[in-house]
Amino acid sequence: MELNISVMISEEEIDKKVRELGARISRDYAGRSVHLIGILRGGAFFMCELAKRITVPVTIDFMSVSSYGSGTVSSGVIKIGKDTDESIEGKDVIVVEDIVDTGRTLSYLLEMLKGRKPASIALCTLLDKPERRTHEVKVDYTGFQVPDKFVVGYGLDYAQKYRNLPYIGVVETEGE
Ligand code: 5GP
Repeated sequence: MELNISVMISEEEIDKKVRELGARISRDYAGRSVHLIGILRGGAFFMCELAKRITVPVTIDFMSVSSYGSGTVSSGVIKIGKDTDESIEGKDVIVVEDIVDTGRTLSYLLEMLKGRKPASIALCTLLDKPERRTHEVKVDYTGFQVPDKFVVGYGLDYAQKYRNLPYIGVVETEGE
């Protein structure tokens, strides 16, 4: 069944924002290199576009992570599906994510990565849903703040589909 999807953020708006973020990062890291870590799978689309707009030297890597359930025990564990291929020690790392929602996964991931002694670590997300935050996360670069709606496209999926939409869309439910 195909869902009804309406455009929330157009391809042009995203493209403009990615250029702005790339320019900001290039200024902030002038004279240095940046090591981008894209969070699979959704963050890959954004990271590739962002990398093209950064003018300082860029290296890339990927990780796939998920948080274990939502139990009340603060186990603070995340499951690493795929770890980075390279060490991040001494590097200026920017973690690139599609969306920060509750912040649970990223808060744990960032703590874990800090333990690996990067020179610095920052977070860049295309979308941020601040209303849903349960875990504090410092977001250094944000594309767009979005309301608490389920969004798809530009890497974000619904049952693994729609990642390839060139825009951010909202899945319309009955009655909307
Ligand atoms: P959290 O910040 O809650 O730990 O998890 C963030 C992850 O939840 C994102 O990387 C993404 O995979 C998923 N997620 C959160 N909100 C949405 C949404 O609106 N649409 C989609 N497709 N995934 C979402």
